[in-house]
Order: sequence, then C-alpha cells, then structure tokens
Amino acid sequence: MQNIIQSLQSHGFRITPLRQELVSLFESGCNPLAYDDLLQLLKSRGFTPNKTTLYRELTFLCAQRITQEIDLGEGKKRYELANDHHHHLVCTACDAIEAVHLSTDIRFEEEKIKAEKGFVVTRHMLEFFGICGSCSKKGLFHAN
Ligand SMILES: [Zn+2]
Ligand SMILES: [Zn+2]
Repeated sequence: MQNIIQSLQSHGFRITPLRQELVSLFESGCNPLAYDDLLQLLKSRGFTPNKTTLYRELTFLCAQRITQEIDLGEGKKRYELANDHHHHLVCTACDAIEAVHLSTDIRFEEEKIKAEKGFVVTRHMLEFFGICGSCSKKGLFHAN
C-alpha cells in the first residue's frame, strides 16, 4: 500500500491535491474516521471541500478498494484503509477504536455457510464492544 498514489496514476486517475491529502490522512494509521472527522482534519490542513466533493472522493476511494466503510452502530459511517482484513475493538467508556486481527479464520465459516445453505458470503462485519485496557485500569469497568 506504499504506492497508492502511483497505483492510481498508473490506472489513469487524476490525483487532485484533495485526493492526495485524503490518502495520506488514511495512511497515517489513524482510527477509522467519520465524515465530520475527515472534514475537520482537512480543514486544519487548509482544505475546504464541499460536502458533495468529499463524499464523491470517499466513494471513489472505496470503489477503488483503497478505503472501506465500517459501521460501528453509531448511525454514521467511518472510513479506513482497506489494506488488510481486521476487526475492531470499541471501548464503550472512552470511544477508543483499535484494530484487531483474529487468529480464527472466518473464511472457514463462510465456506461452511456456502456448503450448507448455498449462501455466498461477500462480506461480513464483526466488531467487539467493551472496556479498553486503560479504562479498566481506571476502574471504569463494572461487571454486571
Ligand atoms: Zn473478518
Ligand atoms: Zn477506554
């Protein structure tokens, strides 16, 4: 994923300053970003895209499989680099989001579903909600 911009260029896509900035924002290893987070970050970097432009850009990046949408049940989408397959740990005390790689291969389950039900899984979402390490140290975790 080191050469996202070069790869886009080689496919004949125009690299606008906004597109370049968005890619570098996502590449900086940040948490999954919602539209408003992105807008704020872009503004702090001197970009003032209108709503349509930014949504169009995000749609483009998702269509090129550079980024992907995730839904953490907040009533808004978040966007992140689509460079590897992972899930998320969401702290319900401090809202921290951390990527996590599972040692279990869910593709095995998807094969089973296909064999048993004839249902072809094209994607899945699996996120974990709970209390992060630092919050539980602060005693923010109350078992019930
Ligand atoms: Zn998965
Ligand atoms: Zn936390």
